[in-house]
Amino acid sequence: MRRSVTILGATGSVGGSTLDLIEREPERFEVIALTANCDVEKLAAAAIRTGARHAVVADESCLPALRARLAGTGIAAAGGPRAVCEAARMGVDWTMAAIVGLAGLGSAMAAIEGGGTVVLANKEPLVSAGDLVTAAARRHGATILPADSEHNAIYQCFDFARPERVRRIILTASGGPFRDWDVAAMRGVTPAQACAHPNWSMGAKISVDSATMMNKGLELIEAARLFPVANEALEILVHRQSVIHSMVEYVDGSVLAQMGPSDMRVPIAHTLAWPDRMATPMPPLDFVAMARLDFAAPDAVRFPALRLAREALEAGGARPAILNAANEVAVAAFLAGRLNFLEIAAISADTLDRYDPVAPESLEAVWAIDAEARRIAGERVKDGVA
Ligand code: NAD
Ligand code: MG
Repeated sequence: MRRSVTILGATGSVGGSTLDLIEREPERFEVIALTANCDVEKLAAAAIRTGARHAVVADESCLPALRARLAGTGIAAAGGPRAVCEAARMGVDWTMAAIVGLAGLGSAMAAIEGGGTVVLANKEPLVSAGDLVTAAARRHGATILPADSEHNAIYQCFDFARPERVRRIILTASGGPFRDWDVAAMRGVTPAQACAHPNWSMGAKISVDSATMMNKGLELIEAARLFPVANEALEILVHRQSVIHSMVEYVDGSVLAQMGPSDMRVPIAHTLAWPDRMATPMPPLDFVAMARLDFAAPDAVRFPALRLAREALEAGGARPAILNAANEVAVAAFLAGRLNFLEIAAISADTLDRYDPVAPESLEAVWAIDAEARRIAGERVKDGVA
């Protein structure tokens, strides 16, 4: 029987990699729903190619164009955030949650309520509402699999039957495009420079997060949500080649690493076929050509986002949600040319200093904290950070 699949955020970088794999094996996968924010042309083309039953735009103003484009195809068009959640809740075998930002929280939760396997590429919901997300998965019998390359690597190496035998989880980080730059030079970097990642091709937001290393900070918190280890057992290691995607060290001194090309189709394929395996078009790793793998300690002075994320993880409660919200606002402002690169982390630090609510115990509370943190961060962007 074909595995029924839905892709939330089908027009993005991860969404495109997922479609590529699915379209290589049409006899294995049946596409139920594809969603996007407003990229009607890309969404409709993918829906027609894959024979999807539903195509949904989150931005309702784009629905008339989607309807027109899909007229006569038999594919149902819908629009608005609620329609995205309805598409997510249909109860398919496998859902890819690849919307960017906390905007993906509602639909990721809806997919979890629908049951089946829910693959979270979208890390921000795990950062801001991690315990609520994992508790919902337990309640609804959904299986969460991580597509983020580091967490997918850890998942492949982690002994869930004996988590107490794990001594360390080592998250590898490429260090981003500015890993060798000094702080003064970083102040002047442009959005185009920040988005030009040396190893990975990704959407704009995560590319900027990689450049500030906030991505690794968010991933630290993401790892704490996904794997039952103490926070102190989570370490970050700079590994510029992005060949080792992360490692798990056991008490006996054994270290298991997952390696592979830096192409998201590898971790996505792991989740698509899980617990089986499927082929990808990746060439085998050429270890001789690679010749060496480098490692270095992360630098929390040049990359303060690492310190902010570690502190938010340790403090817990609302801190990760505030950090994520402020960072989303700051990254958008940087991409719009309204902040310099160093101000991205400064906005997050400043928002954390100004706002310290109690821990959220419901999704509504997470949304309220997110909204208030965005408001504070937005004001700081307007006023200009010191
Ligand atoms: P992207 O910007 O390329 O794509 C984002 C997708 O979400 C698009 O389909 C877009 O239409 C949709 N979208 C945007 N705003 C939306 C909204 N408000 N409501 C509904 N849909 C919306 O992003 P990406 O690089 O594919 O990343 C997606 C997620 O996966 C992020 O959380 C990112 O951190 C994570 N991730 C990405 C990569 C990567 O290689 N790109 C790797 C690991 C994790
Ligand atoms: Mg990652």
